[in-house]
Amino acid sequence: MQKKAIVIGAGIAGLACSLRLQKKGYKVTVVERNSYTGGKMHVLKQHGYRFDLGPSLFTMPELVASLFKLHNTPLEKYFSYKKKDIICHYFWPDGSFFKASAEPEEWIKEAADFFGESSEILRSYLDNSARKYALTAPIFLEKSLADWKTYLSTNTLKAIFNLGTLNIFNTLDKHHKDIFKNKKLIQYFNRFATYNGSSPYKTSAIMSMIPHLEMHKGTYFPTEGMHSIGQSLYQLAKDKGVHFLLSTPVLKINVENNSAKGIEIVVNGATQYLEADIVVSNADVFHTYEKLLPTIQTPKRIVQEERSSSGLIFYWGISTSFSSLDLHNIFFSEDYHTEFKEIFDKQTLPTDPTIYINISSKEKPSDAPKGCENWFVMVNAPANQGQDWEDLKQKMKQTIVRKLSDQLGVNIADYIVYEEILDPIGIEKNTSAYQGALYGTSSNDPKAAFLRQSNKSHIENLYFCGGSAHPGGGIPLCLHSAKITADLIPAL
Ligand SMILES: Cc1cc2nc3c(=O)[nH]c(=O)nc-3n(C[C@H](O)[C@H](O)[C@H](O)COP(=O)(O)OP(=O)(O)OC[C@H]3O[C@@H](n4cnc5c(N)ncnc54)[C@H](O)[C@@H]3O)c2cc1C
Repeated sequence: MQKKAIVIGAGIAGLACSLRLQKKGYKVTVVERNSYTGGKMHVLKQHGYRFDLGPSLFTMPELVASLFKLHNTPLEKYFSYKKKDIICHYFWPDGSFFKASAEPEEWIKEAADFFGESSEILRSYLDNSARKYALTAPIFLEKSLADWKTYLSTNTLKAIFNLGTLNIFNTLDKHHKDIFKNKKLIQYFNRFATYNGSSPYKTSAIMSMIPHLEMHKGTYFPTEGMHSIGQSLYQLAKDKGVHFLLSTPVLKINVENNSAKGIEIVVNGATQYLEADIVVSNADVFHTYEKLLPTIQTPKRIVQEERSSSGLIFYWGISTSFSSLDLHNIFFSEDYHTEFKEIFDKQTLPTDPTIYINISSKEKPSDAPKGCENWFVMVNAPANQGQDWEDLKQKMKQTIVRKLSDQLGVNIADYIVYEEILDPIGIEKNTSAYQGALYGTSSNDPKAAFLRQSNKSHIENLYFCGGSAHPGGGIPLCLHSAKITADLIPAL
């Protein structure tokens, strides 16, 4: 009899894990609450505009490609992407503007001019970022921290010998202030803390490895939009025989003698039990413990760990186009420290937010009517703690319109012809992400990597993958998570 594996949730990590388990010889069923797959990586099409609802920045495409390689299938049959020449357009409140080239030497030359820092300091910072990534990724991002073998590897010994150079106990902001003089450059690099939903004033300086991914390895655009990443994996999984049950919420994971035996679902009003040898939860870890494992005590650290930031997103159909904008655009706040204090300490929206605008129609013109643009306008937000989101949303819309109108020199409100808004409550409602956190738990605590849910649970045959489990959120880490989980499960 072929062994059965059930994956709860068809987010990017659930899809990737299903493909890996299928390859290992399991009969895999993915059970997804929503009528669609992709989880946070969903899409909205209205009035000629197409919006990617969730992730907008695509790095490390090789992690997606590896799943096609695993199944000996040409990637081009399902998925295509291109490298970006320009990483991002950055705007500051004083009207200054920096276009970040994807070519490192060109970036160094232009950044030296713009920020007034020496090329040597900039190059050394980027080299250091690459070194930190090379030292830590094989342990913290690609292996299970709960597996004793991780600690016996030469990679771990190398990292231990180099502990001093990793700046673990410095904050990212302090690290940048020690290196750079220019406040704008410090803000530029501090922003990378938000790639895992953390504050640069709290998270460890080890996060200075993140720029390496964007600035050396590059940023990419999937030619059919971000949504096509998940859809290509869904199509491949179906073609390889993975079975999908959509519109099917899992109500419970059945556990007997501390071993997962399957799940409980409702079909046409009747409870059904699906047996399995392995259960993998791609659903949020807090949701999994609280709702799906009612007789198991949720571990204290899962309850107590601070959640990552969330987001407030305005999807705007814009009836004109802006030549000063690109695919990725950042409009910085005046006072970054206050902005993060408001988000993480006061748990409210920032008075003066940093605004991110993603415009996929710059790369894929069919995402908006001719001469128009599809704006994904996002500000960092605290995880949902019962704030008055209706009030906050209205005020934030006015702030964003005022700020962008000032910076772009036209009244933006005149050009918004379509609007949809997603707040932390909506994010939780759509995907069960606890408090609407974008990346599971935050990395504000230097011990965060060790406190995050490990991929193998203390319950036999129950595993976790996805943004709230090890090694964390964001597409690349979710894909690592799926691999770590599948590697822990024996092949048949
Ligand atoms: C607005 C936004 C912007 C982002 N920007 C970026 C970015 O630019 N780059 C980047 O890399 N990352 C970004 N992220 C983060 C990234 O989207 C996530 O880390 C990643 O998509 C999470 O994938 P996942 O597989 O962990 O889970 P999810 O996508 O959360 O999927 C979990 C799935 O489980 C299902 N589920 C939950 N409970 C049950 C149940 N009881 N029964 C059945 N199914 C269930 C859910 O419906 C969902 O489909 C962003 C996220 C958001 C929301």
